[in-house]
Amino acid sequence: MSSNTDFALAIEDLTVSFDGFKAVDNLNLYVDTNELRVIIGPNGAGKTTLLDLICGKTKSTAGSIKFNNKELSTLSEHQIVHAGVGRKFQTPSIYENLSVYDNLEVSYPKGRSVFGSLMFKKTAKVDERIKDVAKEIFLADFLEMEAALLSHGQKQWLEIGMLLIQDPELLLLDEPVAGMSVKEREQTAELLKRISKGRSVLVIEHDMDFVARIAHKVTVLHQGKILAEGDMQSVQSNPDVIEVYLGH
Ligand code: ADP
Ligand code: MG
Repeated sequence: MSSNTDFALAIEDLTVSFDGFKAVDNLNLYVDTNELRVIIGPNGAGKTTLLDLICGKTKSTAGSIKFNNKELSTLSEHQIVHAGVGRKFQTPSIYENLSVYDNLEVSYPKGRSVFGSLMFKKTAKVDERIKDVAKEIFLADFLEMEAALLSHGQKQWLEIGMLLIQDPELLLLDEPVAGMSVKEREQTAELLKRISKGRSVLVIEHDMDFVARIAHKVTVLHQGKILAEGDMQSVQSNPDVIEVYLGH
């Protein structure tokens, strides 16, 4: 028999009420390891609020958010990061005046080194990791460039890299291809597919071509509730989904 402990992320009966308005309303959501789940839905559906709840930016009114069987809803944002959750916001929050390299370096998790004072070893290890991540996010040739000079799409990649360098087990991405060119979107689809191996990835996205390219399963949110869930095809042909979202 399967139970919710089989899932990496198990959200149950989750509700948040803002002055009586339920932005997320009694929601149940289960995500596996190695799964790339896409959340779609009209503006105001509660998508961003859901990510805010998972990463601890917003506190729930009721319900539970378990990640690897650990309850997150009572933890601080900082503790949730330590539990292996990385969150990317809609607008990239990078250090514009630092280089790509330095942006990645400041994001490298502190206090994980067992080498203590053996700084050289630590530095070499960090340096290698920074270069690996830069390659993964298509910025290997831009390490010395000031982040301000990157294209909007490259800034989005850099922010994903700043999360990847912490090796999160759950990655939350809010509209990661907003403002990207067609080519950059294609590359991002490949990137997300690659990084969902060995972890869980939750992506909010509007671009349906992009969703079709990456999603294992799609969850449609509407008024804080799940309207439909399933593979892309079943969701796209669902009359309720067409009525409240895809038809517009
Ligand atoms: P989406 O990302 O799906 O477009 P949001 O999660 O941003 O939607 O918002 C869902 C609803 O909750 C909206 O009506 C929004 O105005 C409301 N909301 C979100 N955050 C707050 C807040 N901190 N206080 C009051 N209302 C909020
Ligand atoms: Mg949003």
